[in-house]
Amino acid sequence: TVLTGAASLGLTLSACSKGSEGGSGDSSEGGTVGVAMPTRSSERWLTDGKSVVDDLKVRGYKTKLVYGDDDPKAQVSQIGKLIQQGVDALIIAAIDNKSLNAVLQQAADADIPVISYDRLILGTKNVDYYVSFDNEMVGMIQAHYIIDKLGLEDGKGPFNIELFAGSPDDNNTKYFFDGSMTHLKPFLDSRQLVVQSGETKLKQITTPRWDGPTAQKRMSDILTKWYRSEQVDAVLSPYDGISRGVLSALKSAGYGSGIKPLPVITGQDAELASVKSIIAGEQSQTVYKDVRRLAEAATSMVDDILHDRVPWVDDSMGYNNGVKAVPAVLLQPTGVDKTNYDTLVTDGYFTADELK
Ligand code: BGC
Repeated sequence: TVLTGAASLGLTLSACSKGSEGGSGDSSEGGTVGVAMPTRSSERWLTDGKSVVDDLKVRGYKTKLVYGDDDPKAQVSQIGKLIQQGVDALIIAAIDNKSLNAVLQQAADADIPVISYDRLILGTKNVDYYVSFDNEMVGMIQAHYIIDKLGLEDGKGPFNIELFAGSPDDNNTKYFFDGSMTHLKPFLDSRQLVVQSGETKLKQITTPRWDGPTAQKRMSDILTKWYRSEQVDAVLSPYDGISRGVLSALKSAGYGSGIKPLPVITGQDAELASVKSIIAGEQSQTVYKDVRRLAEAATSMVDDILHDRVPWVDDSMGYNNGVKAVPAVLLQPTGVDKTNYDTLVTDGYFTADELK
């Protein structure tokens, strides 16, 4: 289920951070927070790591930041080391959402609170809070963009679409996909949208490790096999790195020049290369998630927990991880295309120069 009610979050978070700024002057009291991020190969996670560390420093904490380089075993061993080093709290963006049970038991045994960051850790009671964006909403925004651009609600079609999803071991993947499919399914059923490859099930369309070249290869194979005499009009892509891989495959097959226009292509994360691609009229759209706000939500929670305050959460029902309902804060994502990308500059996410 999707939790709502994040609308008030901006206010609540700034209230929280104001409250804690007062107490953050004494860094000797702060303690050390271990921060485990999944990969350095995608821009957003670099921004996440930096923002979490910066916010914790402002709040008076020391930090130990590690990146698992998309290797679940390496991440488990990094977290094990952080526990041995005696961190006071852990903020974890999991690589494989099910591989952390044993190491999180060690964290629980050592009384270390755990925040599941962006991706929900599954199958363990030893996760205290979850902070993320409304992941189903991300998928809905992407689907809506396609519906809108193709004029499906005005009865236009049929159009060809191909579907891509994220890494199968990332809990967010199915939320993104389900969010999109809620809106696309009626048009697939009415055959206003047609998937020539026939690959519409989540397990047929996942992209292990969210890897762009893997998506590029799948798109090339699909184009060779199914689009000799057809044209693809839209591609549902859950993440900018995948979108750019798909774009490369399309361009190699002659799209974007001559009589084959590029299809509508969605994305996520507002990565610089993709925002530039949007401005250049190639990728159509991305979903902007201001991860600086996510970092703020996570660090504010850590600060509350370590000061024996109960962190504010969106909905006391929480987010089910298979073992328990994890209390959660979910932020709202924003759709960005060439008509409104200046939001990114206004927000200070990028400078105007960076987007040139
Ligand atoms: C995140 C997305 C990101 C993807 C690949 C997901 O868990 O929520 O923002 O695009 O991982 O890094």
